[in-house]
Amino acid sequence: MTDSKYARLFEPVRIGPVTAPNRFYQVPHCTGMGHLRPRADAATRAIKAEGGWGVVCNQETEIHPTSDLTPFPEGRLWDAADIPALRVMTDAVHAHGALAGVELVHNGAHAANLGSRAPVLAPSDTVIDALYPKQARRMDKADIRDLRAWHRAAARRAREAGFDIIYVYAGHEMTLTQHFMLPKFNDRTDEYGGGLANRVRLTRELLEETREEVGDTCAVAFRFAVDQMLGAGGMQAQEEGREVVEMLADLPDLWDVNVSDWANDSITTRFEPQDGYQAEYMSWVRQATGKPVVGVGRLAQPDMMLSMIDKGVMDLIGAARPSIADPFLPAKIRDGRIDEIRECIGCNICVASDNHSVPLRCTQNPTMGEEWRRGWHPERIAAKGRAEEALVVGAGPAGLECAMQLARRGYDVTLADAGRDPGGRVLREAGLAGLAAWRRVADNRLHDLRQRANVRLYAQSRLDAAQVAELGIPHVFVATGAKWRRDGVGRSARKPVQADAAMTVLTPDDIMDGAVPPAGPVLIYDDDLGYMGGVLADHLARAGREVTLITPAPIVSPWTEMTLEQDRVQRGLIAQGVQIRTGRVLSRIVAEGCTTHGAYGEPECDHPCGSVLMVTSRRRETGLHDDLRAHQTREEIGLETLELIGDAAQPGLIADAVHSGHSAARAFEADPESVEAAFFRREIIALTD
Ligand code: ADP
Ligand code: SF4
Repeated sequence: MTDSKYARLFEPVRIGPVTAPNRFYQVPHCTGMGHLRPRADAATRAIKAEGGWGVVCNQETEIHPTSDLTPFPEGRLWDAADIPALRVMTDAVHAHGALAGVELVHNGAHAANLGSRAPVLAPSDTVIDALYPKQARRMDKADIRDLRAWHRAAARRAREAGFDIIYVYAGHEMTLTQHFMLPKFNDRTDEYGGGLANRVRLTRELLEETREEVGDTCAVAFRFAVDQMLGAGGMQAQEEGREVVEMLADLPDLWDVNVSDWANDSITTRFEPQDGYQAEYMSWVRQATGKPVVGVGRLAQPDMMLSMIDKGVMDLIGAARPSIADPFLPAKIRDGRIDEIRECIGCNICVASDNHSVPLRCTQNPTMGEEWRRGWHPERIAAKGRAEEALVVGAGPAGLECAMQLARRGYDVTLADAGRDPGGRVLREAGLAGLAAWRRVADNRLHDLRQRANVRLYAQSRLDAAQVAELGIPHVFVATGAKWRRDGVGRSARKPVQADAAMTVLTPDDIMDGAVPPAGPVLIYDDDLGYMGGVLADHLARAGREVTLITPAPIVSPWTEMTLEQDRVQRGLIAQGVQIRTGRVLSRIVAEGCTTHGAYGEPECDHPCGSVLMVTSRRRETGLHDDLRAHQTREEIGLETLELIGDAAQPGLIADAVHSGHSAARAFEADPESVEAAFFRREIIALTD
């Protein structure tokens, strides 16, 4: 039953000629599946609809080969041949009573057209976004006429594919319409350049023509980035942003308002801990247009949603990441199961998967992206098999997830952890600067486990093989994690680095355990190139320490480009006064500091310091597993199942550990015929001609 307090969230909302069944709106977001994996994409969207989202959109959908985002598998509606694949999605979404939306796009100079080799189009002659030495050409009038015809035709095809809401998209600095709007990209002197009305002309035409073409049966939505968050250097919500809204107020049936670029729209909790952070930029749009408005900004808490509706900030609660972390968020609110909501932690691993061109994944929700290919459902899991009991050793993200899923299947689960508080690396990393929200990964699972009568959770219980034997549980999952190495082995050094014992050498684990580096500058050597080196530099600088960060990479924390954070990481460290030395490889550690050499043959140089903090790679903690695996022990104990999972099996992201724990729990006693027992299904291209 719907808690009456939240009844407003379940009111239908009229959007032009269609009606959303409630106020939960999954805004367009990429899945890394798109036109290459349409069945998987459809299954992901269908799960959202099943979970109660009243509107489920696909992702940016290329309208023509001159907007070819290859190798990124986005949506595609180049011609009629693309309709059937999208029809799979709209049918799947409709089957659960939700509306389906499509985000038509021409990406202009953001599309490198690497696959199609078509000319790249832009308002003015310019470089392209992709790191590829070719340029975009200024569109002439014929190009603009063509573009309008392509958009019109794509809208027609979208309707044929079964979509209810059809977008014109001007956001993320990735779209031609927005490029026309912004003087930074548009120096034209004709009727498409100069004053704002001219720069908005193309968008106006597309809105009018989309309405003309499909507006009798489909709603026309306009996704608009109202503020670039560059201050006076870009479009601002209260300046030109407002003028655009006023100029186009009546044209769309729905305003989907956000900020740009993508790094601002999808900012991580590390840099913006406040959920609902976009409201201040768009709270006036509804009043200015009189049309329904959907907004975003990590809206996952029902009370915040309600207040957004009550205050008239928005009519529809938009979500990309909260819908990924918990596709059943609306259903849980509806059914009064609010404490079961898996809150997004704002880590952007989902974004990273798109940037890697692989199917969507999520730290909090290991089933995301696995709905079709592995048959995983976020809320359902097969009942237990013949076994009664299982033991999980280690309560980090892998162990917690494995234990929780085994318990949901009905096994009696014993979960033991050596630490004072369960949570493993999640708890430890959440203690570092900017990562507090990551705690939710452990909190969510611990809350679940503590409700269950079939779970026994023991903290401060380091188990050895003899103790495991004593417990006499025949099915054992070992999730004992990994520890950062002290010896310098990593990407640049495959063998330990020579070190003088007089120098204090620390690891990230030492800092997370509360160690305070001895007096003097701390030299962080980051050869891991993920997030940890930059996080620790920030953490120690905030604690008032003098920090030097040395890395063989040309930039700080290069992998964080995938999570849209790198720019903020490097700027933040510079602002904190961290000394940054890029392109330097550690040669040896001496009594008074370190010696490095240049990554490209530059000579050695010395870096005096009080301690060295090694962020290079991790060593798997497999001692317990190895002891249990010894044939004799195994026989003695009568172990039937012994599985190494999480970072102990393969050090990686927290998302990988959660996925590994989930996977092991599903596979345990799985029906060998089931899709869950198979590795995964693939979408094989059909050879039809
Ligand atoms: P993962 O990311 O794979 O979940 P973590 O490093 O986060 O791994 O967590 C591993 C957990 O296992 C830690 O909390 C650690 O205290 C615990 N642990 C390690 N060895 C043992 C052991 N022998 N018995 C019980 N707990 C252990
Ligand atoms: Fe949220 Fe992280 Fe999941 Fe993305 S990967 S939805 S940011 S928890």
